[in-house]
Amino acid sequence: MKINSFGVVGAGQMGGGIAQVAACAGFEVILYDLNDPALERGIKAISSSLARMVKKEKLTQAEADQTLARIKLTTDMADMAATDIVVEAASEDEAIKKTIFRKLDEVCQPETILATNTSSISITRLAAVTSRPSKVIGMHFMNPVPMMQLVEIIRALQTDDAVFDAVQQLSLDMSKVPVDVNDAPGFVSNRILMPMINEAVFCRYENIASAEEIDTVMKLGMSHPMGPLALADLIGLDTCLSIMNVLYDNFKDSKYRPCPLLVQMVDAGYMGRKSGRGFYTYD
Ligand code: NAD
Repeated sequence: MKINSFGVVGAGQMGGGIAQVAACAGFEVILYDLNDPALERGIKAISSSLARMVKKEKLTQAEADQTLARIKLTTDMADMAATDIVVEAASEDEAIKKTIFRKLDEVCQPETILATNTSSISITRLAAVTSRPSKVIGMHFMNPVPMMQLVEIIRALQTDDAVFDAVQQLSLDMSKVPVDVNDAPGFVSNRILMPMINEAVFCRYENIASAEEIDTVMKLGMSHPMGPLALADLIGLDTCLSIMNVLYDNFKDSKYRPCPLLVQMVDAGYMGRKSGRGFYTYD
């Protein structure tokens, strides 16, 4: 099962990053989003990221230009028909993802692997809405995709071994390090990371310390490269809240209850970096 052509659904920070890394690895990429402004934001972020890599001499200008030229934009999901794999990276919402998987199942050739970059949602349930559950798999990249090495590869209960092997090889071809994980809420990464971030939000909510002080404790005290509140802003507070809700709803354990401050900030539209305001403010 050799993968040559690559589709990405969702041109946000993760979808854009996945499209960039796939194109950098030599794949022809089709990037889908709901409308032109979303695609324009996505391709602009990819161009800026490539420009930074040229400046740091990680890429030549010619390689950056070729990478960009390999990415085609579309608002018509039917353009995914001939791809060998589609990686879905739309918002962290099970209903949205199920609608996308039903539509991809309808338009893509029967051999196409349908992967999701979900942070927490059941791959088994997404697989079950398609007519090809054995070809559905989780491919969980980390943020920012061009910088981070890890990809969690998550088998749904229904996933074929041949599909797992093909996606593992694809991750290596994209210069990533794949880790084999079974399907469970939050997988390994967000089962551990997100309760820690939520606890940091509780520390802020209970005014135990300022955001800067909480982050400094974790950076200098635990050698984390980034404090948990700055990381929450990078991930997106809406995404953090969605992940906490998935953990809480699925495990039915109060230890996963989202902090009320996190809920309130999302209600206020404070999503972190992407909205210009979260625990910190951004230009
Ligand atoms: P984002 O908000 O930056 O982007 C989401 C994109 O999805 C937007 O461009 C939006 O227009 C698009 N979208 C929404 N509904 C859609 C639909 N029906 N069809 C197609 N596109 C649609 O979010 P993100 O941070 O890129 O997260 C995307 C996915 O990646 C989520 O499942 C998230 O949990 C996961 N993820 C996020 C991170 C992170 O650090 N942010 C890390 C790993 C995985």
